[in-house]
Amino acid sequence: MNTAYAQTVLGKIPSEKLGVALSHEHLIVKPNNSDSYYEQYTLDDAGKSTEETISFKQSGGNTIVEMTPINYGRNPLLLKKISENAGIHIICTTGFHEEKFLPNWIFSMDDDSIKQKLLNEINIGIDGTTIKPGVLKIGTSLNKVTETEKRLIRIVSDVHKETGLPISTHCSKGTKAIEQARFFLENGVDPSRVIIGHVDIPNDIELLIELCRLGFNVQIDHVGRDLANNDATKVKLIVDVINAGYINQVFLSGDMGKKGYLPAYGGTPGLSYFLKDLKGELMKKISEEDYYHILKINPRRFFTITTRVNE
Ligand SMILES: [Zn+2]
Repeated sequence: MNTAYAQTVLGKIPSEKLGVALSHEHLIVKPNNSDSYYEQYTLDDAGKSTEETISFKQSGGNTIVEMTPINYGRNPLLLKKISENAGIHIICTTGFHEEKFLPNWIFSMDDDSIKQKLLNEINIGIDGTTIKPGVLKIGTSLNKVTETEKRLIRIVSDVHKETGLPISTHCSKGTKAIEQARFFLENGVDPSRVIIGHVDIPNDIELLIELCRLGFNVQIDHVGRDLANNDATKVKLIVDVINAGYINQVFLSGDMGKKGYLPAYGGTPGLSYFLKDLKGELMKKISEEDYYHILKINPRRFFTITTRVNE
């Protein structure tokens, strides 16, 4: 018998309940790096993050996919608390960032042990809790894919094939997306189970279309950076991908893991932006049905985990 569900920090839920979902955000994050530059990328106040999450809910949002990976300040217990207090579904992550943010143990552990660590998080829980991740992550560096990153793509691909968890990626500044896609195909991964992330940054529609043509999902997730032009270039990318016939493969989010983007931390525009200003801009170019297709129908399909259970 097969069972299908989405895995949230509060447990399994039917994926129909995910509702309006942002597919790549950060609520609790702390880059493991002593460089003061990264202070702005630290979100560690559960109260403020809850406030931000409540404003997303009040604007009509239901689910946040929290893409903070291992060694980047991931905190499943605080995510659980935010989920309970804000009444929002949160899907958390297992897997890795690009090489410069990897934990040292990656370089001394063998492949099987790394794989087993990920499987333990998925089957038992993260860091001694019973909270389980609902998505896998891999990352690649700016303009290159390192040998370690290739190794982790291989390991995460294996874990994906064994568990059914979907994979969502980080392409530094949107580079090396096609290489990532190629590695997944070489590792026998069904491209419809992979979101290639940050691919809107180069603002190259041909890149998005090529990835879609290969069967991958593309994520426009650096939205809300340039309010002055109402994200016109992002809106155009979304419209162009839809017009090319790939509405089923587009995901939308803000990757707003920075104080300057979140009103609760003194920034702007915040997570409610997708349901307010940006929705207004999109509505001038696409139908409401298409808008909800991207924010509801696609995440519902993608974050569904199907596993075989023995009767
Ligand atoms: Zn991110």
